[in-house]
Amino acid sequence: MAKYSSKINKIRTFALSLIFVGFIVMYGGIYFRTSPLIMTIFMIFGLLFIIASTVVYFWIGMLSTKTISVICPSCGKPTKMLGRVDMCMHCREPLTMDKALEGKEFDETYNKNKMK
Ligand SMILES: [Zn+2]
Repeated sequence: MAKYSSKINKIRTFALSLIFVGFIVMYGGIYFRTSPLIMTIFMIFGLLFIIASTVVYFWIGMLSTKTISVICPSCGKPTKMLGRVDMCMHCREPLTMDKALEGKEFDETYNKNKMK
């Protein structure tokens, strides 16, 4: 089971890992410096990962405008939530906008429109 974390944080971690993958791929290209073609391919792939990460960061920016700022009832700190259920950024308290889901166990599937 993957441990839950705030969605924005999760996407941010993903964007950061894309940058790392990009640099690793570009670094890998150095081993092929005898072959300019392979090295160029590695560099382009590395660059693509970094571009993808920039796109994800831009997406985070877009998502951030859609978040709702709430005061966490558990720790009293302001946090941002996305979707019907999300988690407090500070204390990982599950938060919900839907009264019907209050008190239920935290489940990210509540965010999906299609329920089984
Ligand atoms: Zn909290």
